Amino acid sequence: MSSKKKQRNAFFFYMLDMQEELRRQGRNVPMPQMSAIAGPKWSQLSDAEKAPYHIRAKHEKRNPTPVIDPSRPPRAGKMDCTGELLSERRDLAAELEEKRRRQAEILKSLFTSKRGATDQTIFLFDIQPQCTLKELESDRWLPCELAICAYSLTEGSKHNYHCFIHPGPIPIGYRYVAQSQSDQTHMLPVDGLPGQSRKDYRLILAEMQHFIETHRKGPIEPLLFAKRDVSERVDFMLKWLARKAGVEFFIDQVYELELLIMQWDALASSSGRSSLTLIYVTEGLLNTSSYDYETGIKCKLHDKEENKFCSMSTVKIYTFVLSDHFCPKFSIPITSAHLPEQPNIPAGIVKSDVFVPRMNIPRGVAASQEVPPITMGRGRGRGLSGKQLPIPQVREPARFTSNGSK
Ligand SMILES: [Zn+2]
Repeated sequence: MSSKKKQRNAFFFYMLDMQEELRRQGRNVPMPQMSAIAGPKWSQLSDAEKAPYHIRAKHEKRNPTPVIDPSRPPRAGKMDCTGELLSERRDLAAELEEKRRRQAEILKSLFTSKRGATDQTIFLFDIQPQCTLKELESDRWLPCELAICAYSLTEGSKHNYHCFIHPGPIPIGYRYVAQSQSDQTHMLPVDGLPGQSRKDYRLILAEMQHFIETHRKGPIEPLLFAKRDVSERVDFMLKWLARKAGVEFFIDQVYELELLIMQWDALASSSGRSSLTLIYVTEGLLNTSSYDYETGIKCKLHDKEENKFCSMSTVKIYTFVLSDHFCPKFSIPITSAHLPEQPNIPAGIVKSDVFVPRMNIPRGVAASQEVPPITMGRGRGRGLSGKQLPIPQVREPARFTSNGSK
């Protein structure tokens, strides 16, 4: 207790985040070396991008952290800056590694043949956060846009689900952060899009489950995927939705898409082992900018704004990457359901469905629907729970499928 408390500034919190990000990518960089890595990037950030870190530093100033002496074992009863008991503090990096190892094992046991991989429909998820409020336990990420693509290698992507979600009231003191994060990314208003951002969380969950049940295909239970760097926040926001709806969540877990790509790549290779590295999959394949300027893959709003921070285009691009990489390896003919439509598609190629966004739906329909009580249990095994949500009879044809025209 003798050492003087060291003030942690905004840059320190930036380094913490970057260190966590590097750890996710498999690089363990000690804190003393972080400033050399983070410094140049920090100096390039705009004031708006730095704002969340200044707020975290201010927050800590108001709620001082007890000094931790690493040479002494923590005594029961002492807490860290998040209020967690030091004696019960978890090694999050190790837990994450263990979770990934388990997921990779499950995927390996589920996808054992080329046929199994090509015929299985998977569900690709993205949720845009309205804002990221890392210091708030229950509102760490507030959702504002959600998209799901049902995809299989043989059929490509024909069905999508999309909606704007109302993030609820922005916690007091965080409005500026939320606004600046929105301005830097998706540009959705912090108070939701009038008439479009939905607060009927229970209905959204029921629609999601209905979408998955309707389009599931293949020998195994439906599996949900998100890109590694967003899978934690997608998982968090799905549970946030369930909490707001007052139900238990029906999805067991969100898998990392990179792990699936490596498993499919192993199946495609003659040696049975993937030659891809995780870093390559994440940074080389999935972070492609090749499709940034495709038209017609974003939701109507983001298409009009030419804004690439769109959940719809994000999941669409995952499907293009999967098709582009795997269809030739599995000898699957590429159709317009696999890749963005080109102006001169040869005759005879199957035309994919085209996403019709929610804006075309008469306003007030969603709000007027009575949602029956939902009783959801934990999923059995790995996928959805056996219990079926009662699905309200709503404007589904307009939401989930399309008229095939552009
Ligand atoms: Zn969008």
